[in-house]
Order: sequence, then structure tokens, then C-alpha cells
Amino acid sequence: MLQWLRKPSDDPDATEQPSANDPYDLRGQAAVVTGSTSGIGQGLARALAMRGCDVVLNGLGDPAEIERTRSDLEASCGVRVRYHGADMSKGEEVTDLIAYAKGEFGRLDILCNNAGIQHVEAIEKFPTAKWDQIIAINLSSAFYATRAAVPIMKAQGRGRIVNLASAHGLVASPFKSAYVAAKHGVIGLTKTVGLEVAEHGITCNAICPGYVMTPIVKNQIADQARTRGITPDQVIKDVMLKAQPTKKFVTVEEIAGLFLYLVSDLGASCNGTAYSVDGGWTAQ
Ligand code: NAD
Repeated sequence: MLQWLRKPSDDPDATEQPSANDPYDLRGQAAVVTGSTSGIGQGLARALAMRGCDVVLNGLGDPAEIERTRSDLEASCGVRVRYHGADMSKGEEVTDLIAYAKGEFGRLDILCNNAGIQHVEAIEKFPTAKWDQIIAINLSSAFYATRAAVPIMKAQGRGRIVNLASAHGLVASPFKSAYVAAKHGVIGLTKTVGLEVAEHGITCNAICPGYVMTPIVKNQIADQARTRGITPDQVIKDVMLKAQPTKKFVTVEEIAGLFLYLVSDLGASCNGTAYSVDGGWTAQ
């Protein structure tokens, strides 16, 4: 995965030294990616590390597996990789994650608010505890992390904030009230922060993927089948890929390509905007 993101210096056949002007050379920078023990977040953390960026991983999971991911990334990319277990539903832990990154690396250049969960249920049966949890993890955590990161980035005179929203930040689907509300909120937060930080060399943008086959999607297939009274195969074909004109799942690599552009110097004028990577879903 992500072979094309190899650092120039890792190529044994390279005849040229990496250019000091390579906009994708992130050596010397430091990042936090929330929810990076799995799926898209793990891919984005890897993309950053492969370009030389130090990274703090975060997320839930088996401690031994997380440590394996952390140490593999550190060894294979030659960067510093740390892990912080902040629960994204708890504001003070999110704030502590940002302070930890600054303490470990002395700086924070890139914040990717990626952690997210889903729950599929009709509105009249939607559990109130699930609503609160989804709003906390998918929306409020981005507020807490951004609130803590912006002063560090302002002091540095540069920063990049990228929020993983969703096609569901732009359009709705039934049975996902909390998720759709949270993701629309993430785009509102993105626009507001983008305006507030624009003169400080900082940008804030959102990426809006269509369906990517990660655990959050795999876990929905059975729920969607139950809620809609159809088979799991029908959920994939008639619900998920029905919305995506390409009829293909979006890949983590495709999201990583846009992400690297946004965090690079080339992304300096992209600000306060939501970028779709959805195979044409929201063009309809
Ligand atoms: P995933 O389930 O593979 O990963 C989610 C990550 O969030 C995991 O690392 C998990 O441990 C972490 N997480 C969940 N609850 C947490 C908590 N309380 N504290 C800390 N970490 C927590 O899902 P993914 O598909 O990689 O999703 C990543 C982001 O992309 C989410 O915000 C999701 O809404 C968004 N997204 C996904 C898709 C898709 O189709 N997969 C589409 C659009 C947007």
C-alpha cells in the first residue's frame, strides 16, 4: 500500500538527491492524526511518515497491535512515531493529545481530525447515548483538537488542519441522523476556522470521501441489511455503490494523495473548503 509515496531518499536507484524545494518533503514537520489505528487515519499517518514527518498516532485497539503498527512505521520510515490513547469523546483527553505532540516533537505542523464512528438506525429508535457519542467523537473532538493546535501553529506562522468529513457532510442518507449532522457540522467548523486562521499561514480544509472499504463501512453492512430488510450483498450494490457513479469504493491511497497536497506548500491557497473524493456521488 502507498508504494508511490516512498521518500526519494528510499529509492536505491535514485540518481538525484531530494530537492530542497520538493513540496511533498515533510521532513522536520510533526503531525497528529486522530483515529489512526485503523482505516483511513492509519493510511494518512503512513503517508505523512513516508514523506519524513514525525507522527503521533491515536485511536482504539489492541495495545500489542498498536505498538506493532507504531514501531513498524518508525523503523520503515525513519521518523519518530508516538502513540497517545486519548478517548476522542473526552475533551480534556483530546486537549492533552495536542499538548503531548508539542511536548514530544517541540512543534505541531499538521493536525488531521479523522476519528469517527457510525450508527445506523431510524430516527425514532436512534439511541440518545449513540447520538451524544457520535457528536462527541465525530464533531466535538475536532473542536477541542483545533482549539488546542491553533495557538501552536500561530506561533510557528504555519499550520495545516485537515478534517475527515464525508460525502455525508454535504448530502444525507436515511438512518444516519447523528453521523450526517456531525459531518455537516465538521464542514461548518472547517469554514469558520479557515476564516479565522487565514492570515497566519494556516489552512483548514475538509476531505469528503464516498464509501471506502474500512472497518467503519464493513461494520455497517449487517446493520444496513437489518434496517432496510435486504441482504448484505444488496447493501453493497444497491445502497453503498448505488450512490457512487464509478461503482467502485474510494481507496485510502486516493484520499492520501489529496491529503498530502493539502498539507504541502502547494495547498497554501486551499482554505475553508470541503473537497469531495466520492466518484461523483455529490454531483447528482
Ligand atoms: P475506521 O473504523 O477504520 O477508523 C476509525 C478510527 O477512529 C479508528 O482508529 C478508531 O480506533 C478511532 N476511534 C473511534 N472511536 C474513538 C475514540 N472514542 N477515541 C479515539 N479514537 C477513536 O474508519 P475509517 O473508515 O478509517 O474512518 C475514518 C474517518 O473517515 C471517519 O471520520 C469517518 O467518518 C470518515 N469517513 C469514512 C468513510 C468510509 O467509507 N470508510 C467515508 C467517509 C468518511
